[in-house]
Amino acid sequence: MNRNELIKTLEDHQSTEWDIIVTGGGATGLGIAFDAATRGYKTLLLEQSDFSKATSSRSTKLVHGGVRYLAQGDILLVTEALHERGLMLKNAPHLTANQEFIIPVYTLWDVFLYFVGLKFYDLLAGRLSMGKSYFISRSKTIARLPVLKSEGLKGGIVYHDGQFDDSRMAIALAERCVTSGGTVLNYFRVNSLIKDEKGKIEGITARDQISGKEYIIHSKLVINATGVFADEIHRMDNPAAKPTIRPSQGVHVVIDSSFLRSNSAIMIPKTDDGRVLFAIPWYGKVVVGTTDTPLDNIGLEPKALDEEISFILKTTAKYLTRPPQRSDVLCIFAGLRPLAANPDNPGATKEVSRRHKITLSRSGLLSIIGGKWTSYRRMAEETLDRAIKSGLIEKRECRTKTLKLFDNGISLKSDRLKIYGTGGAEIEKMIENQPSLGLPVDPRFPYTRAEIIWICRNEMPQTPEDVLARRTRALFLDARASLEIAPEIAILLAKELGFDRTWQDKQLENYKNVINNYL
Ligand SMILES: Cc1cc2nc3c(=O)[nH]c(=O)nc-3n(C[C@H](O)[C@H](O)[C@H](O)COP(=O)(O)OP(=O)(O)OC[C@H]3O[C@@H](n4cnc5c(N)ncnc54)[C@H](O)[C@@H]3O)c2cc1C
Repeated sequence: MNRNELIKTLEDHQSTEWDIIVTGGGATGLGIAFDAATRGYKTLLLEQSDFSKATSSRSTKLVHGGVRYLAQGDILLVTEALHERGLMLKNAPHLTANQEFIIPVYTLWDVFLYFVGLKFYDLLAGRLSMGKSYFISRSKTIARLPVLKSEGLKGGIVYHDGQFDDSRMAIALAERCVTSGGTVLNYFRVNSLIKDEKGKIEGITARDQISGKEYIIHSKLVINATGVFADEIHRMDNPAAKPTIRPSQGVHVVIDSSFLRSNSAIMIPKTDDGRVLFAIPWYGKVVVGTTDTPLDNIGLEPKALDEEISFILKTTAKYLTRPPQRSDVLCIFAGLRPLAANPDNPGATKEVSRRHKITLSRSGLLSIIGGKWTSYRRMAEETLDRAIKSGLIEKRECRTKTLKLFDNGISLKSDRLKIYGTGGAEIEKMIENQPSLGLPVDPRFPYTRAEIIWICRNEMPQTPEDVLARRTRALFLDARASLEIAPEIAILLAKELGFDRTWQDKQLENYKNVINNYL
């Protein structure tokens, strides 16, 4: 992906009409753009910041049906998500993995409840099951989770779900959209909707946030896939539009793997506030979360509340023999759930659904809100099928069920580089030609100089933060250490993009400000 070339494609098309403009480059928008491009529609996606900058890089990183939604009786949501889980693991094996979870159980009733519940979960997954659930004794539970407090422990229920790298998945979708003929642009903000004399939407105005250039772009269909920001676009369509989003913040903390000392994840099905808490191994660290805090204000950099961090640490301390302290936390990240609310009663949390919702306004704005990362493919399919059914675009069949997001034919010396898809082989070639590029930028991270240069050339990062947070996951794995490598990343990126020292200094200043939200 080359941003300048993609801008040129946009400018070359200025006098013609796109079939589809997708607003928002998170899981939902990228999923739709990929689906649309592979159906053969002339597709443009615009993201105001970086791809997956908002919620889509801040998930729990699970490809799952949602054991918790099963407990709430939302069978449809779980069945759909389990099916999509299976497809995502098949189509993106380079970014997903089968993860074993153990639910520690302390009463015989819980043994029964969770065993039966998870057997039902397996049943709903059908032939896309990732492995059978089963009960293990107290001693086996302790053997697999040596850090678990054993007082009163009856045993554990083992089950399987998927795990993935959310922002790398977003980049993979963007890249596959481009190789399928679509155009995706980060740092392009949609500022208004253009309507014809009958009040029907016929395009948008957008601004390149980097050059400051304004664009008027015409399209048969505009899709609003802006997650928690969806109501801003609704108000561009109709200034009197009622709120449809009920934002809720979810916080995770990242700690060293020595606190878990296991390849199995822990799942606590019911914390004191009735939520689920996970402690999951991820890239050699452990991600622990999450919370569910209703918010009134939304932004691109949500900040964890002190009480959310304390809650996670306090709950973890109930289960682990060596509980992490605040000073052990390597990164704190907060994400906003774009929950669909009842427009007539926006504050009512009981009516908030975790399933996605597709709406079509009178002027032809197609919006999709809510849902989960796991279901991105199905959400995209339903959105485009709805557009076809409403006569907004011509009929073309969805192809994404079996479309691979990577090339099977590549063999790599380093398994870790498979996350870059075909790029993995190119990175290895760079190292072969110049072995010094094979050295890690910093011993605390695995990322080599070749990798960073390849990312800068091929994945459209525009700031060191794009490289550190979403192309690599350095920021999420160890925020402080990522700040220390930021100057070198800024030098490498500046060289590729043709920027000077002043640009680097400004970028580092910005990164320092961003990082405060993660410490
Ligand atoms: C804490 C937490 C944990 C989660 N864990 C999981 C999980 O483990 N598994 C799972 O399946 N799901 C999970 N989810 C749900 C999943 O992450 C979300 O459903 C998904 O990421 C939402 O994607 P989205 O594209 O709708 O929204 P976003 O990722 O927020 O993307 C919307 C994008 O629109 C852009 N935008 C807004 N306005 C404009 C504009 N005017 N012009 C251009 N662009 C604009 C924004 O910058 C943003 O990037 C979790 C959610 C949270 C909050």
